[in-house]
Amino acid sequence: MHKLNSKTPTGDIEKRWDKHLFDLSLIAPQNRAKYNIIVIGTGLAGASLCATLGESGYNVQSFCFNDSPRRAHSIAAQGGINASKNYQNDGDSTHRLFYDTMKGGDFRARESNVYRLAQLSGNIIDQAVSQGVPFAREYSGYLANRSFGGAQVSRTFYARGQTGQQLLLGAYSAMSKEVASGKVKHHSRSEMQEVIIVDGKARGVVVRDLVSGKISAHTADCVVMCTGGYSNAFYLSTNAKGCNTSATWRAHKKGAFFANPSFTQIHPTCIPPTGENQSKLTLMSESLRNDGRIWAPKRIEDCTKDPSEIAEKDRDYFLERIYPAFANLVPRDVASRAVKSICDEGRGIGTEINGEKLGVYLDFSSIIERIGEDKVRAKYGNLFDMYERISGENPYQLPMKIYPAPHYTMGGLWVDYNLMTTIDGLFAAGEANFSEHGANRLGASALMQGLADGYFIAPRTVANYLAKNKLEPVDLNHPNVIQAIDDTKERINRLMNAPEPKHSPDYYHKKVGRILWGACGMSREREALKSAIEEIKALQIDFWQNVKVTGVENDMNQTLERAGRVADFIELGHLMCRDALEREESCGCHARLEYLASDGEAKRDDENFSYVAAWEYSQEGTILNKEQLNFEFVKPSVRDYT
Ligand SMILES: Cc1cc2nc3c(=O)[nH]c(=O)nc-3n(C[C@H](O)[C@H](O)[C@H](O)COP(=O)(O)OP(=O)(O)OC[C@H]3O[C@@H](n4cnc5c(N)ncnc54)[C@H](O)[C@@H]3O)c2cc1C
Repeated sequence: MHKLNSKTPTGDIEKRWDKHLFDLSLIAPQNRAKYNIIVIGTGLAGASLCATLGESGYNVQSFCFNDSPRRAHSIAAQGGINASKNYQNDGDSTHRLFYDTMKGGDFRARESNVYRLAQLSGNIIDQAVSQGVPFAREYSGYLANRSFGGAQVSRTFYARGQTGQQLLLGAYSAMSKEVASGKVKHHSRSEMQEVIIVDGKARGVVVRDLVSGKISAHTADCVVMCTGGYSNAFYLSTNAKGCNTSATWRAHKKGAFFANPSFTQIHPTCIPPTGENQSKLTLMSESLRNDGRIWAPKRIEDCTKDPSEIAEKDRDYFLERIYPAFANLVPRDVASRAVKSICDEGRGIGTEINGEKLGVYLDFSSIIERIGEDKVRAKYGNLFDMYERISGENPYQLPMKIYPAPHYTMGGLWVDYNLMTTIDGLFAAGEANFSEHGANRLGASALMQGLADGYFIAPRTVANYLAKNKLEPVDLNHPNVIQAIDDTKERINRLMNAPEPKHSPDYYHKKVGRILWGACGMSREREALKSAIEEIKALQIDFWQNVKVTGVENDMNQTLERAGRVADFIELGHLMCRDALEREESCGCHARLEYLASDGEAKRDDENFSYVAAWEYSQEGTILNKEQLNFEFVKPSVRDYT
């Protein structure tokens, strides 16, 4: 069994990162040009990393499958980014952000990493402001804040409902400067297929040019994966359609452990599905829960009525009722489960799908009455416009309809404190790693983590790795390079030439998505997980026998791209269910029906499950390794938001 070493520093938690930084080896400026680094993915984590490494003087090669780094899924982030600046003077501090994040994640994250994230949060805002990111400001000129779930302070910085877009433009501009100077060589429309390992170290990648179909190998001194999350395994999710797990999954198959794959976040406020043929769901930002009130009719017979006909006394503001202290701003897992249970009781509203109405109201009438439509428009205008464009209903006049949807993945590649995976020289940053959010991520903390990783952590830990390892150049004719290219070609060949081609990749994607949503979504249960595992095994055999990929491989072929990604989702889906089955407790997003209290709250089992599940790939059967979590600075308690 592999011994997991998280390389977490010891001592006072406030000093750990500073001490670690001092202990990391440096590379002098004049020597940095001798080193080559590959960065896969140029969303917020990757673009900020490329910019910082390039500016420091390293040679960077970056790759993304989009037609520009500006098209990364990060651009969709709406609501904001957390930082413990305490501009509101409402009691925030590094320690409070640390505590809220640990508690929000239901005490399934590493203390040292989370504390470092809270410490770096302020630096991110300073960096972004210096780049000209147009955060919202108060009349005084100070940066404005709003509240997000799981916190009783206002610490979320935002740029209307386009925070991700503005932050990405900042990171992308900084990266573009390095592209212009020649320090970063960027390749768009290039999809990583395999990691190249030489002498046990990650030394390069094989990529497919998505326009020409050309396969090529690229070598370097180390590789950093910033390839985002895998919520699209569920088929319907709030993620961009292109988001996938292929880079992380293929690294996993080469030796990188996959941590907590079943920890996936279902976001409570998304536009509900309206039919069987939908391919995407849309998030309505959590920021809306600052002022929007969530309710459902008290009586089932009112569920078909127009909401304006339901009297105030007949409305159940269920989050305010059940969780008076945090009310509509409870964490996402708690809110999602509450919405589901209301709909399971038959009190859902909106379109009926498979005999159930999947929706509750998110209502702005109180705030509009209090501050007026213009002020509400100034705060949330673009989100309201987006809702109206998609639903055809005017949310200034009618409450929005919302329902939970797959949104974010806390699971990802296992990394140590230096963000290095279990493969030497292979790092993972941003949503691609598992590190900070435990069993549930708090709103506005993903952007914070991606940028902390990219601007401040990985540049230092990658340099330390390079300084400490003597790495000879790897020739493109090295047998391991040739082997990785051959493996890629062989896989493409199998996808193009299934024995009995019948069904499109989307057909299989929908199938695996439905299985996962049913068994490994908002609630999980032993027998359902066991049958899901068997169903996914059968689906995998069916896929390789019957997948139909039209077109040719030596050209642009989006069906081939999809087929490769779906094959990986199927394998990952199997591991998600195994992970969920193995964890015989409820915590955060992981609601095992056998381990819920009578009021529906998660019942953790700290004695037996206070660990990170780090799965090791093996042809004979994936092996579970456990990283025990130690709590020295917070005391795991039952999460109480009432
Ligand atoms: C609708 C929506 C709204 C959100 N709003 C917020 C918010 O308000 N606040 C917040 O904190 N978080 C929010 N999140 C979460 C947050 O946006 C993401 O977690 C974060 O942007 C991920 O950044 P990343 O850099 O890790 O990955 P991404 O931005 O997903 O970038 C991944 C990159 O990897 C590349 N890539 C992937 N695979 C390959 C491959 N095989 N080969 C080459 N390149 C590859 C892609 O091309 C891309 O460049 C939101 C998420 C969604 C879905």
